[in-house]
Amino acid sequence: MSMTSTVRGGSWLIEEQVPVPGALLTREAITEEHRLIGQMADEFVTTEVLPALERLEQKDWALARQLVRRAGELGLLGTDVAEAHGGVALDKVSSVIVGESIGRSASFAATFGAQTGLVITPLTCFGTDAQKATYLARLVSGEATGAYALSESGSGSDALGARARATRLPDGSFALNGEKMWITNGGFADIFIVFAKVDGEQFTAFIVERGFPGVSTGHEEHKMGLHGSSTTPLILQDARVPAANVLGEIGSGHKVAFNVLNYGRLKLAAMSSGGARAIVAEAAAYAVQRKQFGRSIGSFGAIKHKLAEMTIRQFAVESMLYRTAGLIDGAMQEPLNPGANAPHDGAAVLAALEEFAIEASILKVAGSEMLDFVVDENVQIHGGNGFVRDYPAERHYRDARVNRIFEGTNEINRLLIPGMLIRRALKGTLPLIAAARKLQDDILSPSLADPVADTALAPERAAVSAMRKVSLMVLGTAMQTYGEKLTDEQEILTLSADIIIDLFAAESVLLRAAAAGARPELYHAAARVFIHDAAERVETAARTALGAIAEGDTLRTLLAALRRLLKVQPVNTVALRRVIADAVIERKAYVF
Ligand SMILES: Cc1cc2nc3c(=O)[nH]c(=O)nc-3n(C[C@H](O)[C@H](O)[C@H](O)COP(=O)(O)OP(=O)(O)OC[C@H]3O[C@@H](n4cnc5c(N)ncnc54)[C@H](O)[C@@H]3O)c2cc1C
Repeated sequence: MSMTSTVRGGSWLIEEQVPVPGALLTREAITEEHRLIGQMADEFVTTEVLPALERLEQKDWALARQLVRRAGELGLLGTDVAEAHGGVALDKVSSVIVGESIGRSASFAATFGAQTGLVITPLTCFGTDAQKATYLARLVSGEATGAYALSESGSGSDALGARARATRLPDGSFALNGEKMWITNGGFADIFIVFAKVDGEQFTAFIVERGFPGVSTGHEEHKMGLHGSSTTPLILQDARVPAANVLGEIGSGHKVAFNVLNYGRLKLAAMSSGGARAIVAEAAAYAVQRKQFGRSIGSFGAIKHKLAEMTIRQFAVESMLYRTAGLIDGAMQEPLNPGANAPHDGAAVLAALEEFAIEASILKVAGSEMLDFVVDENVQIHGGNGFVRDYPAERHYRDARVNRIFEGTNEINRLLIPGMLIRRALKGTLPLIAAARKLQDDILSPSLADPVADTALAPERAAVSAMRKVSLMVLGTAMQTYGEKLTDEQEILTLSADIIIDLFAAESVLLRAAAAGARPELYHAAARVFIHDAAERVETAARTALGAIAEGDTLRTLLAALRRLLKVQPVNTVALRRVIADAVIERKAYVF
């Protein structure tokens, strides 16, 4: 990929974005190399992982380890790792493509995600040369398996409230005591990244081997879903950990934990996207073959609506996903942190992931909620067959649910989205306050809404521009009204997050549809439906938020501005959805 001019995370909230020269923008623009790695990952899942699912669900962890090993042999565990440490050093778009393939098997995706995103990533970014030499190559080859132990029974969302303690011993080593909960791969991992407080205060990450004295794991949790993934407690009883196994600095465990989550959220969205692609195909195939009233159920408008909506929501997540991965790759090529210049240098990776942390949180929320919608409608399309174990629809439904809980719950991520934007605004790295002030001056102007040109997607472009102004209006008014106390107004922050998510999704969909070359009809149809409905959602959320923030004449002025901005052009979304559903039914597949 050629050099790109650096784009700052969150800048789409301030001004209209145009395609960045040299940065991958859409899934359609992937290279031959990307396609080949995707094909290999797909083949691995089809021929080796999916046939093993029943045995994995019976907790055959020797098989899980074998599959991790195979993934390592194929290079799939090392897409983010430099060749010097056994990796294949590909870009983030490649990791997204691999994540999508692996996401077709949710249980194995949890195993794979813990190994790569939660263990290999922190070692890559924070490990010393000696730690990398001891652990990284073994994890990347799949010879060793890994797990990440942050949560405890009393501290999940409040991760820094952990009680696990690391006591310094006279020889410089540490004795770890405590119990970690919900540890993915706990039943069979060899290496754990464990968070504990040194002397009860300094939150720190450690590399802990299963074989160290005092380390053990508990019983498997009885979970709603992901039965083919191991989840256990990790018990530390005077567990002896050498001083050399501190990961990062003592007292800087939060940096390890939070940076890992930034990337984990992007990968979770990739896995949700891959899962949804496969499930749309499953739903379409079922709808074609299932007959009621003498007709295939796929011929009924009510079912077409579902198939189209499943497809459109996935289209939106995918559009955000590839755009974000392309931007991260661009930032790693031309680092925001000038001290770091090799694409797989830990500092460059960290700077790029942090820059796009807002987009990663958006993707986590949007990806997990889209997948929940898709699995739910898949059950509905399957009718009674969706409720019994003879069909995979029931398993997908159970497996998807946890995505809204781990990698930071969706509530926490929704709070983070405006929270990070505001922090950047106050630090001066994002000109949000100036943009909100300018908008305030424009609010009384009759030309508040952009004029609509007479070209394809022009009304959609105008709607996205209006959503941007509404986002600024709501967030700017909230900041002005509440000041520092805005953090206490979670309902307003959550409504702002919903508006901002819809803005980023709508702009991503628009950019993708505008870039669609030959046969753009389906792309335009998906973009038009998504943006039309997003504008309506944004209006409702903005009205609710403003109703709580302002009153009297100020509120009346703001609501009048809102009405002028979001005067949505009438669109026949029923007809557009039918066009998409007919294509899905004809191909018995997701169509983008
Ligand atoms: C299958 C599975 C696998 C997991 N794998 C791992 C793993 O490998 N490693 C690991 O360390 N952890 C893992 N976890 C734990 C997971 O990360 C936590 O469950 C998650 O962070 C939520 O924490 P909690 O369960 O304590 O919920 P809580 O934090 O108690 O949250 C309960 C509810 O309160 C809300 N809430 C909490 N705080 C706030 C707030 N400040 N404002 C508003 N709402 C709030 C939450 O959003 C949620 O709706 C796993 C969990 C599961 C179920």
